[in-house]
Parts: sequence; structure tokens; C-alpha cells
Amino acid sequence: MTTNNDQDHDVPKDHPRSESLKYRHKIIEGMKTLVVAEAGLIAHGRGECFDYMLGEKTSMTAKEAIKAAVALLLTATHAIISVNGNTAALCPNELVELSEIINAPLEINLFYRKEGRIEAIKNLLQGAGAKKILGLDEQNMVEIEELSSNRRNVDPNGIKIADVVFVPLEDGDRTEALKKIGKKIVAVDLNPISRTSLWADITIVDNIIRVLPEMIKVAKKLKNADEKDLKNIIERFDNKKNIQLTLDTIIKYTKQQKKDAFIKLRNSI
Ligand code: ATP
Ligand code: MG
Repeated sequence: MTTNNDQDHDVPKDHPRSESLKYRHKIIEGMKTLVVAEAGLIAHGRGECFDYMLGEKTSMTAKEAIKAAVALLLTATHAIISVNGNTAALCPNELVELSEIINAPLEINLFYRKEGRIEAIKNLLQGAGAKKILGLDEQNMVEIEELSSNRRNVDPNGIKIADVVFVPLEDGDRTEALKKIGKKIVAVDLNPISRTSLWADITIVDNIIRVLPEMIKVAKKLKNADEKDLKNIIERFDNKKNIQLTLDTIIKYTKQQKKDAFIKLRNSI
């Protein structure tokens, strides 16, 4: 009998969507190993849809946001990287590398908690070289206001004391709650008008799989920059304007696609 576990995940290199399929399979594998929640599959699909509308590439506006985000993380007193299942499944190595370069610990902080999930993500991050991971000791978590249920639990040495929180792929309620208790938020979200995108101080509208390598590159460059120069980068950045420009990019790309859509078909008949 065939089960979901028997699916062949080899993607031919010349497949037009080979990159996208490769990451789709990482999410599926992540679900099998408990790293990714079932709802994470759907969240990934929503992200893919927006990525399509962005031409599956990093826009200039995303690059601007990435530069400001790295500057903000480097000038923070306590920066922290909040890790969920999807982010861990897609790019564990890059999470660890960025965490080391910008000196911001990784905290596992989940929307969908399930027996064994924290352990599975911990093992994945440790396999990628993580030395210190926060959010593991569920008995010693503290609560943040503004949120109900176990989603309000955070690590007393992590998000609780952080002034800047990097939240890739976060839910809007939690972003709003973190904002309301005074945190500065850097978000990665392919949907430029999600509540997370609108609540964040710096919104990077791009796929996490491209964002993290770019952040690592920028962080290596800016790591030894003067504090004054980093502050200048942050002050010059206008998140609202950046989101509006990102929406313009999507509209422009879609208009171009509207023009191009049937040309190939017409030429091949
Ligand atoms: P919000 O709660 O912020 O209003 P939402 O409810 O529409 O957003 P969620 O499921 O809470 O969405 O969060 C998932 C978000 O993550 C989606 O906006 C989706 O576009 C985004 N996303 C999914 N995969 C990726 C990815 N690989 N890179 C960047 N963003 C992604
Ligand atoms: Mg949501």
C-alpha cells in the first residue's frame, strides 16, 4: 500500500519550479519529523502564492528593509531571534549562522505546541551547530500580557528581556502583543498587508529562504560599522513607505504578467 510517507521527493533540476518544490518538500519532511505543524503547510502555501506575485526574487524594497533590520539588530541591547517550525525546517543552518554573527540567541517560540515539537526543533538546530537555544524549559517560562493561552509563554532570558525581536513568519496576534509590550519588531512575511507586516517596525517582504542568506551577507559588512552610521540607516528607513513601494512592485509585476501570460501559448500554436 502507498502512504504519504512513500512519496518520491526527487525534483528534476530542469523543472521550472524546482527551487519552490525543493522547499515544499523540506516543509513536508519537517511535518513528518514533528518540526512543522499541519497548519504550517498551509501557511507555507500562502507564502508561495505571494512569492509568485513578487517574481520569486528579492526586491529592492526588501533589500532596503534587510539593511535597516540588520542595523537595528546590531544596535540592540538584547536582540533575539524567534524560531518557529517552518523557519527551522527551511533554513536551520542560516538561522544558526545569523545568530552567531549578530550575537542574538535563538528562542524556540511556537504557535502550535505539540508533544515532541520543541525537542524536534531543538535537535534540528543543534544538528545545524546551535550551541545555545532558549525556550526549552517549559516549566520556567514567563507570561507576556496581551495574549491568551500558552502562546503567551516566553523565555525569561530571551524575548522577555529583548528590546528587538526578529520574528520570521509570525502570526499577527503575537506580533501585535509583542509591540504592545514595547518590543521593536523585525518581521519576515511574504504578505505585505498581513497584520504582522503592518504591526512590525521593519517588515521584510521576501521569502525567508532568500532573506537569511542576504541578512548574513549584510551583517558581515555592517558588523564593524560605527554606531552612528547604523543609527543613520535605521532613521532613514520608513516602513510604511517601504510596504507601499512593495505593493507597487507586486502591481507592476502582475500587470507585466497579464501582458505576457498568453504570448507563449499564442506563439506555440
Ligand atoms: P497575520 O496573522 O499576520 O494577519 P496570516 O494569518 O495571514 O497573517 P499566518 O498563517 O498567521 O498568516 O502567518 C503566516 C505568514 O507567513 C503568511 O503571511 C505567509 O505569507 C508567510 N509566509 C509563509 N511562508 C513564508 C516564507 N517562506 N517566507 C516568508 N513568509 C512566509
Ligand atoms: Mg495569522
